[in-house]
Parts: sequence; structure tokens; C-alpha cells
Amino acid sequence: MQIFFPKEKESENRVSILPETVKKLVELGISVEVETSLGKTVHVSDDLYASSGASISKDRNSSLSSSDVTCRINKPETEEISFLKKNSIHISFLDPFNEIELVKEFANSNISAISMELIPRITRAQKMDALSSQANLGGYAAVIEASRCLGKSFPMMMTAAGTISPSKIFVIGVGVAGLQAIATAKRLGARVEAFDTRPVVEEQVRSLGARFVQIDIGETEETEQGYAKELSKEQIKMQQEGMKKICSQSDVVITTAQVFGRPAPRIVTKEMIEVMKPGSVIVDMAVGTGGNVEGSRAEESVIQNGVTIVGLSNLPGEVAFDASLVYGNNLFNLIEEYWDSENKKFDFDITDEILSGCVVTHEGDIVNNMVKDRI
Ligand code: NAD
Repeated sequence: MQIFFPKEKESENRVSILPETVKKLVELGISVEVETSLGKTVHVSDDLYASSGASISKDRNSSLSSSDVTCRINKPETEEISFLKKNSIHISFLDPFNEIELVKEFANSNISAISMELIPRITRAQKMDALSSQANLGGYAAVIEASRCLGKSFPMMMTAAGTISPSKIFVIGVGVAGLQAIATAKRLGARVEAFDTRPVVEEQVRSLGARFVQIDIGETEETEQGYAKELSKEQIKMQQEGMKKICSQSDVVITTAQVFGRPAPRIVTKEMIEVMKPGSVIVDMAVGTGGNVEGSRAEESVIQNGVTIVGLSNLPGEVAFDASLVYGNNLFNLIEEYWDSENKKFDFDITDEILSGCVVTHEGDIVNNMVKDRI
């Protein structure tokens, strides 16, 4: 059984596995191959991978076609699927609701494609949940980025030269990323407020020492997996009205709002930005899925009325080493769960609760119901 870890696309800082996780796979009896200079962006040499038990591949296409499993972070180029070994397994983020052609190509090529974003949110699968492991670090990086762009200190300082008041941070959307953003901003000494459409979050916000902003937007719902459901146009309007004042008083606004499988809701409007203080900063963590903030642009910092709008679509990539460590561990936990150590093969039963959630294609068919519905 051979697993191959190819290099990521040029713009990606993270890598899909670090040497310490390679070691754990090798201990299971799996042969691990990594593409040469895989670890360059996180300062890990080929030698370090080799001393952890990996073979170093200098021929990417040959490794793709000889490996039983290929693991990476980002979805592959469609053209690369034809190189994969027939009936092999491919594990990565896939964006399957928007990448229908890619999904069809996996099915046509007889590849079992696992979508990391579709790992179910059940207790047994928490250790494999890469959306959460990456969102957590993304929330941290968003706060660090905001503090870098803001010409103010986060904590209060009482000095002989005068008192510096603490910065005010407003976090919109309190899932995994939002909770880490709140915790990080609190640790840095800021005053933090937060809002989410799911009322269940209020208690979590309070337990971190932040204030939950009350805005009456009527009935809201969440899915069985804990994801927010889309708001109506009227509810979004009510939310925007309720937030305008908070934004105008904040030094930093961090938006993390997402609706699973749909474009991110547009929450912060031009009108709201116009009432914000010049010099303040907005970090739009949803910029990669449509954006929560009017005028935000991926990989750019846009200045509107003196307000800096930061649009980094890969915030976990700002802490690439740790993001790689936890992503590799998510992959290891997934592989180990189905590893039959006696027969040295995968026990790949797609009726299993986790696999039925995240396997998108298998034996030539699209097998995931959510993806089938979308098609
Ligand atoms: P997410 O990335 O889908 O969305 C981020 C947040 O945005 C969510 O809290 C959502 O409610 C919020 N949101 C959506 N529309 C909004 C709007 N208009 N205004 C303000 N906020 C809005 O969420 P997530 O980080 O994946 O987490 C969703 C929930 O699932 C959380 O409660 C999290 O703790 C839970 N979770 C459970 C497990 C598990 O049980 N295994 C794993 C991960 C997360």
C-alpha cells in the first residue's frame, strides 16, 4: 500500500504532511512517497522526510499512477486525474458543490474521491475535521493580521506618557474561526463583541469574556451538523441595521460568516463602512467564498473611506507550519480509522457513517447524495 503526497499549487504555503506524521504512517506499515521539495514553504527538507521513512519522488506523474492513495490539501487540476491509478483513492479539499466537472472526471476515471469539507460533524470524526483545524488557525491569523494593519495597540496601557485605551474588536460569525478570533483578541487585551445568527453561540461568546450583541432578526435555524441556514433578505437587512452602530464604534471588524455549500452572506455594506472610523480595519475571512464585505477583494487590501479591508483567502496559510501539522494529522486519523493492519489494506466500506458522508465518487459513480442533489 503506497500513499503519495504531491506538492501543492504555487500559491499555497501549507503542505499536506510533515515528517512526524510520515513516521506514524510508516509505523502502520504503509509506504509513503512525497514529491521532492514538498516541504520547501515550511522549511522542511527532503532529507528530513527521508529520515522519517518517506521515499522522495522526483517523478510526480509516475508516483500519481503507481500510488493507491494520493493526499493533498487543494483540489487537483482536472487534467491530472487521468494520471491517477485506476481504483485508487484521492483525498483533498474538493469544493464539490462548485466543481461538478472535476467530480464527474473522478467518477469517469474510477477514482474514489474523498472531500475533506464533507467529513461529517460527528464526535467520531472530530479528529479528521480539517475544516475546523484550518478555521481555528485562520481565526487566529485574522486577528494577528488585523493588529498588524491597525495603527493602535490592542491592550490598554497606562504609561507615564498617557493612557492608551484598548482597541474594540467586533467579530461577526462565531463558528470555529470566530471563537478563535475572540479568544485571540481577548488574549491580546482587546475589548471584544460578537454576533452570530445562531442563538446557541451566545453562551460560548460570554464564556470567552466577550459581549454578545443582541440583534432581533426573528427565527433562525441551523442544520443537524450545526451549520447556519441562509437568512432571508429581510433578516439580512435587519442584521445590517443592528450592526451599523457597533461597526462605527469598532477599531476592527472580523467577519467569518459562512452558510455551508452556499456563497457567503453579504453582511457589511458600503453604507456601514462609511460610518466606520478612518484607520479602522476589516478582515473578511469569507473573501474566498463570495465575501461578507462589500468591496473586499481576494489577496488584496482595499482602502475605502480610510478603512482597510483585508481579503486574504488563505489565512491558515499565514501560519503554514502549524496548519500543515494539523492537516496532516487529520489525514492520518482518517487513514488510520480504516486501516486493516492485518491485511495491510483499507477497509473501505462506503456505507460507514463517516465515509458515506465524505466519499464523493466510487467505482465509477457519484455516490454522495448532497453532491448528486446539487447536480
Ligand atoms: P461556518 O464556517 O459554517 O460559519 C461560521 C459562522 O457564521 C457560523 O457560526 C454561522 O452561524 C455564522 N453565520 C452564518 N450566517 C451568518 C450571518 N448572516 N451573520 C452572522 N453569522 C452568520 O461555521 P463552523 O465554524 O463550521 O461552525 C458551525 C458550528 O458547528 C459551530 O457551532 C461549531 O462549534 C460546530 N462544530 C461542530 C463540530 C463537531 O461536532 N464535530 C465540528 C466543527 C464545528
